[in-house]
Amino acid sequence: MKPIIYTSPYSLHHNTPEGHPENATRIEALEVLFASEVFEGWQNKSSQPADLETVGLAHDEDYLFDLQDKTPEAGLVYLDGDTVLSPQSYDAALHGAGAVCDAVDDVISGKTLVAFCAVRPPGHHAEPDKAMGFCLMNNILIAARHAQTKHNIQKVAIIDFDVHHGNGTDVMTRQHNQNHPEQPIFYASTHGHPLFPMTGDPKDNTQYVINHYLPDKCDGEAFRALYEEHIFPALKAYKPDLLLLSSGFDAHKDDPLGHAHLETEDFGWLASNLSDIVDNKNIISVLEGGYDVPSLVSCVQTHLQHLYKAKC
Ligand SMILES: [Zn+2]
Repeated sequence: MKPIIYTSPYSLHHNTPEGHPENATRIEALEVLFASEVFEGWQNKSSQPADLETVGLAHDEDYLFDLQDKTPEAGLVYLDGDTVLSPQSYDAALHGAGAVCDAVDDVISGKTLVAFCAVRPPGHHAEPDKAMGFCLMNNILIAARHAQTKHNIQKVAIIDFDVHHGNGTDVMTRQHNQNHPEQPIFYASTHGHPLFPMTGDPKDNTQYVINHYLPDKCDGEAFRALYEEHIFPALKAYKPDLLLLSSGFDAHKDDPLGHAHLETEDFGWLASNLSDIVDNKNIISVLEGGYDVPSLVSCVQTHLQHLYKAKC
């Protein structure tokens, strides 16, 4: 059973200003990769938009209405210094959320063991009532809550290896766990420090929200040690029914926004180990960052091959 890759034409129509690192060329390059013989036989699906009730599992209704209201008919509206709305951004965000919910439905119903959502804008910085860090809707948390509410999945784990802390996912997970202690979501992030958004201090860790700073100039050896010592044991102890990955590849050494020194194969090593922990099934990976397009493409290829354990 080959994995399913979810894309959305709207991902190409979320416009950002000239020179912005988060732009449509990222997805265009990935779509060329997915059409190549490397991924022959893998399934492709075009996403449907999520409905407001589903997005509302993570975001305040007023925030969603505000995004709609601010959507321009032409040009760009700045929500902060680097987060923008273009005419089709809101639809792109809804389709991104729709993709992750489709992926949850397909994985839970057994249509695939592994799914990858190649959508933009990314999501992990978006808070319940605030867009930030290029993100409008928090796809990974929407996926987690959709899995819980629609499919009654008890244990949903999120691993976030983007070089930036997923502040939005962190906040939403803590709120959820406070309101639903019987069904806690597990969230673990490794991220650079000091680095945007300057959150994710390990001193605030709880049983289910685990943050760790990458060491300065983090290389593969240090990265692997961090996961082996802190993240893998906690994930194994939680015993997830569903594993969601906030897959950012901006800890790569060539990335212009991160300051880490990872090689492409380090992302393969991580994917392989994470896949082993959940017996190579019930895995949904969702694109977050990764702004050097050639390394993004090579990292996604390696990541997916190791998640799926493909011999290619
Ligand atoms: Zn990032």
